[in-house]
Amino acid sequence: MTAKLINKTAHELHAMLKSKEISATELTDEVFAQIDKTEETIGAYITVNRENALKEAKAADEKIASGDIAFLTGIPIGIKDNICTKGLKTTCGSKILENFVPPYDATVIAKLNSQNPVVLGKTNMDEFAMGGSTEHSAYKVTRNPQDTSRVPGGSSGGSAAAVAAGEAICALGSDTGGSIRQPASFCGVVGLKPTYGRVSRYGLVAYASSLDQIGPLTRDVTDAANLLNIISGVDEMDSTSARVKVPDFTAALKNDVTGLKIGLPKEYFGAGLDEKTGAAVKSAADLLAQKGATITEISLPHTEYAVASYYLIAPAEAATNLERYDGVSYGARVAGKDVPEMMTNTRTEKFGAEVKRRILIGNYALSAGYYDAYYLKALKVRTLVKQDYDEAFKSVDVILAPTAPTAAFKIGEMVGDPLKMYLQDVCTVPLNLAGLPGISVPCGRDGNNLPVGVQFIGRPLDEETILRTAFAYEQESGIKWELPGGAK
Ligand code: GLN
Repeated sequence: MTAKLINKTAHELHAMLKSKEISATELTDEVFAQIDKTEETIGAYITVNRENALKEAKAADEKIASGDIAFLTGIPIGIKDNICTKGLKTTCGSKILENFVPPYDATVIAKLNSQNPVVLGKTNMDEFAMGGSTEHSAYKVTRNPQDTSRVPGGSSGGSAAAVAAGEAICALGSDTGGSIRQPASFCGVVGLKPTYGRVSRYGLVAYASSLDQIGPLTRDVTDAANLLNIISGVDEMDSTSARVKVPDFTAALKNDVTGLKIGLPKEYFGAGLDEKTGAAVKSAADLLAQKGATITEISLPHTEYAVASYYLIAPAEAATNLERYDGVSYGARVAGKDVPEMMTNTRTEKFGAEVKRRILIGNYALSAGYYDAYYLKALKVRTLVKQDYDEAFKSVDVILAPTAPTAAFKIGEMVGDPLKMYLQDVCTVPLNLAGLPGISVPCGRDGNNLPVGVQFIGRPLDEETILRTAFAYEQESGIKWELPGGAK
């Protein structure tokens, strides 16, 4: 079968479903045919939900036949495996949750389900979302569809790879320090991290609760805006969700950047940035300038401390959140002669090395005697990072930066050197610390012909401006995701 549907966006497929040119069953069959063809190489999924997905496609077709169609009706979607799906295994990429079947849906899943999508399965990820390459999954290594010797990024690497390889039309991921945007940039797709609080975290297995957000990975900006419309909103089940009205984000998709003030933070273009990557990102700024935006250089002076601050705050919160996996309340249990030994055995055997490293760092930073020197200081730095942005947004509307300092690296290249891996997050973690929205869109290729992402950063709750900028850039540049050669 030659692929004719899997290389389209969700909004294009929505139009075709609506006009009854295609059926959801036909579309789902084509996606599964692609999964059969490429999944063995790519490894995007931990769980493929084929039987149920085909039922959902049928149900969607019935809905459509009765004239009832919403944006996601009949659209095949992948879900990161740390988002709870009722009755469908949710492992977080960890052996400790190997057999965990959630008894409830995350709020975002309930919202999606109200539109009758086709849930294809649960996508691979770094264990508990700790990592930037998906090599820390306890199950498999996901390969980048653009070059299968390379990582897809992480921790939402399975979601990004599935969307890029035609194994899903769109997907949900989560972003604590870059886990949506960085894999999107590595795989040549679009990834949006909403403002902290825009999307409910209820049912997202917690990594670092003050940083985590769920967001879409899609093939273009229009799909990202549509998905954001669906998943946003205040939720009684998440006290940190923002009590604000949700605009129609698609209304922001105007190809017009006239008068828009864009800032280029000099700290994001310094040492460590690959030359060709930097050039591709700067060419995005040049194009927007030609189209009527004003570009100015700005400074975010505390950027260099953001990674250090993040790698104290995130592990501290993770150490606390992961205490619940004790062999009693959740997940796996490994026997021992008494309760403490049972807990020790369970956690020793079932957590991977990176998770243990973070638990140790986190508990160390929180322990009496070190709390002030590490955790509290990290919180103060977090405030300084946030203030840098507040100051910058007095003079610019949007900040343009690389999503990552390089394009996708080789599988195995960094996994043995945690510090090197952590430094990869330099362009993404500052936003999470400040709670700001950011979107990564493809902006060209590096010296190895790998996709490069440009990141647009906005004021709190101003996803509209970053979507508008990203949309205009996408239209004017003509640079867009395409099914990679190997996946065709
Ligand atoms: N790479 C970062 C980390 O390892 C970010 C992960 C994320 O956003 N979940 O913590």
